Amino acid sequence: MKRLFLLSFFLPAFSFSYSQIQIDTLASINAYLHFFRNNEAVLTEFFKQMPKGGDLHHHYSGSVPTEVYVDYTLEHFWINPATLEVRTEPPRNRQRGVDWMDYRLLTQRGLLDQVRNDLVREWSVREFGGPDYSDQFFDAFGKFSLPKNSTYEQGLRALKQIAVEENVQYLETMFNSVDCPATIDNEEGWNTRLLTYAKEEQTTALVAALEAIFDEFRSEAEPCSETHNAQIRGLHERLALDDEHFTIRYQNYAVRVIPPVNVFKDLILCFLSADKSELVVGVNIVAPEHEYMAIRDYWLHMQMFAFLHEKFPDVKIAMHAGELTPALANPVELDFHITDAVFIAGADRIGHGVDIAYESESEKVLDEMRVQRKAVEINLSSNEFILGVEGDEHPISVYYYHDVPMVISTDDAGILRTTLTDQYRILCERYPFFSYEDIRQLPFNSIELSFIEEDSVKKEVWDRLAQAFEDFEKKVVEEMEELPKLQHLIKIKTSSRH
Ligand SMILES: [Zn+2]
Repeated sequence: MKRLFLLSFFLPAFSFSYSQIQIDTLASINAYLHFFRNNEAVLTEFFKQMPKGGDLHHHYSGSVPTEVYVDYTLEHFWINPATLEVRTEPPRNRQRGVDWMDYRLLTQRGLLDQVRNDLVREWSVREFGGPDYSDQFFDAFGKFSLPKNSTYEQGLRALKQIAVEENVQYLETMFNSVDCPATIDNEEGWNTRLLTYAKEEQTTALVAALEAIFDEFRSEAEPCSETHNAQIRGLHERLALDDEHFTIRYQNYAVRVIPPVNVFKDLILCFLSADKSELVVGVNIVAPEHEYMAIRDYWLHMQMFAFLHEKFPDVKIAMHAGELTPALANPVELDFHITDAVFIAGADRIGHGVDIAYESESEKVLDEMRVQRKAVEINLSSNEFILGVEGDEHPISVYYYHDVPMVISTDDAGILRTTLTDQYRILCERYPFFSYEDIRQLPFNSIELSFIEEDSVKKEVWDRLAQAFEDFEKKVVEEMEELPKLQHLIKIKTSSRH
């Protein structure tokens, strides 16, 4: 009930009068977009200026510009220019003929620019020609993990700067998992039991096992989650990230490609942390959904979410679900991931949702998402690069025609070398059924369906977005008025005379 007030907000629609005639702003901008629908440069300019609300599907480490990691690496670490491996120190027993270099040596030998470019290519999709698209993408995270852990301040500052410059008011970033060395007794035994219960779908026994693990781990986990929250708050405040232009919140995540007890412990940590912090607003699960353990344990992971959702009903859940294609998963797997994320795990938002058309209960899922306003987070460039899904293979039209609330997001803008501006441009170019009115709904969805906890903050961001749209639309219409070549696109309001 707490958030309902926002749903009663009307989407603002502005109209501007010039002398006696009244310009129909939405119709005029719609005509403008229609006219330029295939013009990449004009659309880029338009969408760069358009306020975009929030980016809700945003992995911190994959979104930081690759150059932030690369430049830090050049200045602080040792690099093997042949393999592009990075270490804090050169190995003691160096192989003959293999040169490890630091900044000084790279500069002396005139290799700085070459190695910088090589690293950017290695850690992103820049100039990548295939064939292993998925590996190039997912392997990047491991390759830049060393600089990633040393550059949170630079990374967050860069993300804020980019957001503000492209009129993004809010970021909800999947920031980190919660570090904790604590273990429970006999983890191997628990793994075997959990896997057996999952295989036989013994839900009662499974819930009892989860309860036992939860009880044993909770007291160990609490201090870890508190430390994690304090670190996030420290960074957030030290960098003064929230201001009158910009707001950021964080999601915790567990990794889905490790043994079940480890996933469950990580999820407990994530939920404990999110439950206690206003800055940590939700929990997610990450890593390739098509990998062995992710596929094998998918149903089990959904049960873990369901269990923790009951323990922590206020913690919001965003779920990577259905980031699959027939090339990556067999028909049995393609049939149920989004369905289970919605109906078992209690997900509030679905990340990607690409396989929806393959799920046998798709209609039921789509209805539930529409009625409950559970958004699908659409990541067009990511789906194109990693999955090879684009154009009308992408289920965006399925979600559109079923009136499922949508948000447009970047996923990993750093690795994918994209921006939210690009994502809107691609949307506009490829899916002409999106009118301007449909498109302007998306940034407002991204604030309404964000996990921002404080009502006052959510309202503030919403108001900021509404004001930004008023300014933007006024400017676009004024430009159309001023430029003779655009005047024919202006639409006048037809008023009935009484
Ligand atoms: Zn993602």
